[in-house]
Order: sequence, then C-alpha cells, then structure tokens
Amino acid sequence: MLVFTDPPSMQASALSARSHGQTIGLVPTMGALHEGHLMLMREARPHVDILVVSVFVNPTQFGPHEDLDAYPRDYEGDRQLCEGEGVDWMFYPTPATMYPEGHRTVVRVEEWGGVLCGASRPTHFQGVTTVVAKLFQIVQPTAAYFGWKDAQQFLILRRMVADLNMPVQMVGVETVRESDGLAMSSRNAYLSGKERIEAPVLRRALIGARERALMDPTVTASELKRDIVAVIETESSAQVDYVEIVSMETLLPVSRLESGCLIALAAFFGKARLIDNIRIDSTSD
Ligand code: AMP
Repeated sequence: MLVFTDPPSMQASALSARSHGQTIGLVPTMGALHEGHLMLMREARPHVDILVVSVFVNPTQFGPHEDLDAYPRDYEGDRQLCEGEGVDWMFYPTPATMYPEGHRTVVRVEEWGGVLCGASRPTHFQGVTTVVAKLFQIVQPTAAYFGWKDAQQFLILRRMVADLNMPVQMVGVETVRESDGLAMSSRNAYLSGKERIEAPVLRRALIGARERALMDPTVTASELKRDIVAVIETESSAQVDYVEIVSMETLLPVSRLESGCLIALAAFFGKARLIDNIRIDSTSD
C-alpha cells in the first residue's frame, strides 16, 4: 500500500491511473477506523481497480466548541487496517496542505445544511461538502462510498454530485452496529461505562417508532417523535438534541411516516454527541 501525504502527488497518480483506463474507488474517513469504515472498503474493493482510503480529520467541519483536538487519531492502527483490507493507496494529508494560506473557496448545498444536524452544527455540512469536493478533485474517483449512518451527510453529498455534475457514482452502505444495536462510531470512545450501556436506547427508540407506525398507520410524526424522545430519556445520561422525520427527497418534515422517509436523531451521552437514523421502506436494516 502506498501512502500519499501531499495533494499534488496524490492527484498526479490518480490522473495517471485514470488515463490508463483504471477505475478508482474512494472511501473518505476521519480515521480511528472501525468495522463501519472497513465495511465501506469491503463494499468497494471488488468493484474498482484502485481502492483509496483518505484519512483526514477535517478542521472545517468542526464548530468552534466541538471536539477537533480531542477527536481520536491513530495513524499506525489505521494504516494496518487499510493494508489488511487490500487498500491500494492511503491519502493522509495535513490541514496545511489541504487549506494552504489564501484558501477561500467553499461548496454549500443550500438549505439542506441547516436542518437536522445542521441546526445545532451550522457550519458542519459546508465543511463536509467542501472537503469532499476537494477529495474528488484530488483522488479522481469513479465511485465513492459513504455510510448511511450519516444519512444527512450522504443525501447532501449526493445532491452536490448531482447539482455540480460530478462524474462520481455515490454508493451508500448500511450502518454497522455493535451486537446491542449501537451504531459504530469513532465517538463511542468518549462514552463512560454507564453511557455505553445506555446508548443502545437510540436504536431501540427508532425501531419502536417504526413498529408503532407499521401497526397504526394513523399515528402522526409528532406522536412518533414524542415517543422517541420519551424512550431515550428513560436513560439518565441521555439528552436529546433533536428527533426529526423528513422526506429523503426534500429533507422537509413530513406529517406521517411513509415510504421514502428518514427518522434521524442526535443525542448527548455525557460529552459524546451520537447520531442514528432509520430509513422507511427501503432495504435498510
Ligand atoms: P467518519 O470517519 O466518521 O467521518 O466516517 C467516514 C465514513 O464512514 C462515512 O461515510 C460514515 O458514514 C461511515 N461510517 C461511520 N460509521 C459507520 C458505521 N457504523 N457503519 C457504516 N458506515 C459508517
């Protein structure tokens, strides 16, 4: 496996591979790799000639009081895991090479970045779209792989790719979970023992809501949201940030749970802000 640390050399190799007709798959990550990330690599591996994993803790997607400095970093562990998955190239740039002096350009998907997680993280998605647009230019992927765990992120990036006519196939991969249902996340490392025991309530609350809606089609989205909050707050360390039920086409709230909807939520367990979601009427888990 080759490790590239500077954007121009990564881009030169990618352009050369593409000019020889090779396909490139990109898995963008912030590192501290776990089974969720590895699943994206396994999904991609058989479909592309060259598999690239980027590891970059992107400062522009963190708010001023968020966990940029505390975010877990483990270059050596990540390198070994990528090697084990048959990754061809790892792209491991520094903030200074991604955002050199004078960098001024951003990519923003209007409106969609201000709802759901964007309501409490107002600059987050602009940071994500900008860095992913840059990664697409640098790595020249024919296909890119993202987790449905970050459903809003995937929908926003898919919108960006369509709106800007980017020639990249966008592939969404199902959320990988611990055996008790907790979605795997690098941020689970922040949980205390008690918080870790309580955190799977997020998954239980989402499944409960989907079951209630299946049994009673007249139930409203507001009733379901109230139920979800009540279930989550039975756990003493949980504090709900938001629960929303939206259309995956528009990201606008819906009044009833119907096909094509997403229930998305975020909750704090101590200092860890965890997210989860469930898609309705899809191949989702
Ligand atoms: P991150 O390193 O958290 O920025 O995540 C990098 C990519 O891995 C994103 O596309 C995430 O949606 C995806 N990902 C993170 N956790 C999981 C998970 N538990 N299951 C599937 N994909 C995940």
